[in-house]
Amino acid sequence: MGRLRETLRADLQSEKQDRALGTGWISGVLALFLGLASLFGVLCLRWPALLTTPMLREHYDVPLVRLAILGGLLLGFALAVLNLALRRQKIMGFTAITAILVATLLGGSMAETDHALTSGAYLGLDWFVLNLSFLCIVFIPLERFFARLREQSIFRQDWRADLFYFLVNSLLVQSLTYLSMKPALTIVAFTDWANLRAAMASQPVWLQFIEIMFLTDMVQYWLHRAFHQVPFLWRFHAVHHSAETMDWLAGSRMHVMEIVALRGVTIIPMYALGFSDPALKAYILYVFLHSTFIHANVRFEFGWLKKVIATPQFHHWHHGIEKEAIDVNFAVHFPILDKVFGTLYLPEKWPAGYGVGGHPVPRGYLKQLAYPFSGD
Ligand SMILES: [Zn+2]
Ligand SMILES: [Zn+2]
Repeated sequence: MGRLRETLRADLQSEKQDRALGTGWISGVLALFLGLASLFGVLCLRWPALLTTPMLREHYDVPLVRLAILGGLLLGFALAVLNLALRRQKIMGFTAITAILVATLLGGSMAETDHALTSGAYLGLDWFVLNLSFLCIVFIPLERFFARLREQSIFRQDWRADLFYFLVNSLLVQSLTYLSMKPALTIVAFTDWANLRAAMASQPVWLQFIEIMFLTDMVQYWLHRAFHQVPFLWRFHAVHHSAETMDWLAGSRMHVMEIVALRGVTIIPMYALGFSDPALKAYILYVFLHSTFIHANVRFEFGWLKKVIATPQFHHWHHGIEKEAIDVNFAVHFPILDKVFGTLYLPEKWPAGYGVGGHPVPRGYLKQLAYPFSGD
């Protein structure tokens, strides 16, 4: 099993000439993705109470979901056959066919649900598949066509650990949401700001949106700065900074305790002050796309706009390996906060590399989970 996994990893991480069109690499990667996504889809059909997110479930058109799974299985199979025909190393095709076979044995697109829907604990497997598919469709072509570092592959160093972060953070959507909302909900329960909340919600949505951006960034700025300057907190945040490659997936690398602290605190002004639902939803969608974008391997520089809004170049400098990049650019929305508080660093060039000086953080999810508590 370990050897198979190693062979698969090596094939995914092939050199550039072995990834070119006609080598069977692209069909293999797509087959693998479709095979696994369809298998996860079938698992969600069979065990929806355990593996799907109630908030998303409400919006599903089940016949359409079944059709998508059927399409995924068929297309995945065809691409796997193409991979087997074109490529000498056939591990991707065989793995995809195995996933498709297991999915079919579990009932395929016609899989029956044999568990009643309950409101207990669940894992967001559907959220993982949808979220990953959406980000792949948006960001992989974007990084292909507008790459800053052209040689950087999707399967770059440490991609497995970062994908695992993405998986865990998606599966734990229930507990992460609960813990992140708790401080704000407690404040709402203990305060009587009905007039203030009504006044906030009555403003135009675009104005509320900008106010949310500004307030969350103010709170985020100082908490982020504390995460850099308080040694105990830095051990958690160093995990995020340990990424030596920047792309759309790199931002997922964040210690679970930091996610809870960061979201728990930044959500307070959003919810406690009574902003309206459309403004909150628009902001959550924006922050989800924007936080992925500022880590991406793209060369856009945005001219004068980069002084107004956080851009990839601005956040890449936050991750830079250079001495000048230490403890700068803490904002996530407005660089002006860094300007006012004296932490802005935005030269015309890009950083020469990324990571933490001396690279003290170990590699791999579990080692990084334990790192803040270890003695080294
Ligand atoms: Zn930081
Ligand atoms: Zn970052």
